[in-house]
Formats: sequence, structure tokens, C-alpha cells
Amino acid sequence: MIIRSGQVISVLICMMLSLVDVFAYDTGFEPRDFSESTITKVLMLGTGNPIPHPHRNGPSIAVIVNKVPYIFDAGAGVFHGMGKEMPYFGQNRVEGFTLNTDTANKLFITHLHSDHTFGLPAFLLGGWTLGGKIAKNIYGPPGTRDLVDGILKAWRRDIDYRVYSPTEKNDTGWRAQAHEIAKEGLAYSDENVKVYAFEACHGLWPFPISYRIETPDRVITISGDTTADCDGLRRAAQGADILFIEGITHQGPTKGRDAWPKNRATIPLPQTKRIMHSTTKEIAALANEVKPGLLVTYHEQNYTDNPAQVEEEIRKFGWEGQYVSALDGDIF
Ligand SMILES: [Zn+2]
Ligand SMILES: [Zn+2]
Repeated sequence: MIIRSGQVISVLICMMLSLVDVFAYDTGFEPRDFSESTITKVLMLGTGNPIPHPHRNGPSIAVIVNKVPYIFDAGAGVFHGMGKEMPYFGQNRVEGFTLNTDTANKLFITHLHSDHTFGLPAFLLGGWTLGGKIAKNIYGPPGTRDLVDGILKAWRRDIDYRVYSPTEKNDTGWRAQAHEIAKEGLAYSDENVKVYAFEACHGLWPFPISYRIETPDRVITISGDTTADCDGLRRAAQGADILFIEGITHQGPTKGRDAWPKNRATIPLPQTKRIMHSTTKEIAALANEVKPGLLVTYHEQNYTDNPAQVEEEIRKFGWEGQYVSALDGDIF
């Protein structure tokens, strides 16, 4: 069979158009930029809950002050999430800034639940394997030192291989120092930030933390996992410009329950809500009490993948101020 050149060209065009179809679809998860400050930017590295999601990493937030990043929590995907602000992927929304694990060397953990720490091995070692030379400092509640030291022990063979191999001799970038926080107060400060820890209310964890970050022009509160009806969180959120808070809807768990293994789906909801997480009703009440300039929910456990549901409930329960349900890659 003879194929004329015109046929070949039209076949090629059809193939190219079908590739465009495959890659250029609207996911509904395109990142947005709500930021107004040039000094303080908050980048959502992950907004997801424990259920795997194609467009949401596990919970992790980068507070970037004068181009210096401070990372809060290390949910699964935190390391690859840093690609959201790497100029060579066409992203450079924080002008002149590249997020990598040499610039991102300070991490603050809210509590040691695995969904907030699954990304820690990658955060500790991922940049080093690519040539990063800066040791990390990890701040968190009691138990953080065991977790950090345990990860380094678990990866000891890879560390030894790279440190002693004839081609790679980087003996600094894998190192990490843990700093445990066991009481409320100033946990860290430098020329950009003052980071205060407050005792959140999250089940039986010893000293789960809500962080209050004061920068030259913003007060940012990151709830971590907690009930919103919690005095520590109240103190952390007092007068915040932006309050980032986890959330659970009232109607959510009746939908999408099949996404959970049976034992999780059968935990009585009133118990889960009372001791572990922030219901939309509690969030609205807290927001009306502390009056943040902007209320942002993330790590929403509404199980339905419908962020509008969270907003509907928060509005129904009486918060009329500014509100956003965060997506991965959003900047505030
Ligand atoms: Zn938790
Ligand atoms: Zn969580």
C-alpha cells in the first residue's frame, strides 16, 4: 500500500491532537495564587488526607519568608511537592526562589501520626542524594528524636554507600538534628520568623502542636490535627492574618465510606469528631471568636473530594469572613 505524504501528515496531526487531549485536561486542581505580601508567602505542598489522591499530597505547608522556607509537617509527597516551586518546571511564582532541600532545611512537625510524617525520610535524604550539602533541623513533639534517628538508622546502608563510595563523598547533607518541644512558648526564632508552639487537642498524643508563625508582616497559624474547640489552638490563632485549619464535615463520612477499610469506617463519628478533629461547626465558631483575616481549610477529612461541601457547612454554621479550601500548589 502506498501512503502519500499528505496522509502521513494528517495521521501525525491526529496523533498530536490526541496527545493534547491526554495531557491538557482540566483537573479542577490547578493551583492559585492568593498572596498579597512580597515578604511572606505560604505554599501548600500537600493538602490531602490519608486516602491516596492523584492531586493531593499528604499534609505539608511551606512558609516562605524573605525567600527562606520553613516547612510544617511532612506528609507523603513533601519532597516531590517541592517541584511545585522549581523554575525549571516553569514555576517561579515566588520570584527568584527555588525550593529544594538545601534551602528547605528546617521542618516543624505538628504530631507524629504517620500521615504527617510519611514524607520525612524523603525530606531528610532526598536532597542529599542529589548533592544537597546542608544538614537538617527537625522540630517536633516528644518522640521526634526517635523518629529522626530511627529513619537515619533504617537508611544506614544507603548513607554508608554514598558516603564511602569512590564517586560520592557527601558526608554532610544526610545529617539531621532533632529538637523536641514539650511546652508552650517560643520554639524557634531567627531574623525572619518567630515560631511559637501551642498545645493542640488531638486524642491521646503527648503535646500535639499548633504553630503560630510571626513574620515581619504576617501572623500565620497552622493548626495541625486538633479539635477546633481547643484552648491551645485559640491562643495560637489569636489575631492571625491567616488561620490554616484541618477539618471534618458533618455529612462527609456517610459518603465515600467505602474508601476506608472497615475498621475505620465503623469508628463512631461523634467520638472521632469530639477528640480528634475539627468539625465545620467548631471551625466556624473558632473563626468567629479569633477573627482571622483569612480562614483556610486543608487536610480535610470530608471523604467526598468535594471541597464545596466544607465551605457550605462552614457558611451554614455562621462564618461570613474570607474563606478558601486549599489545593496543592496554592500560594497565600
Ligand atoms: Zn493526626
Ligand atoms: Zn492527620
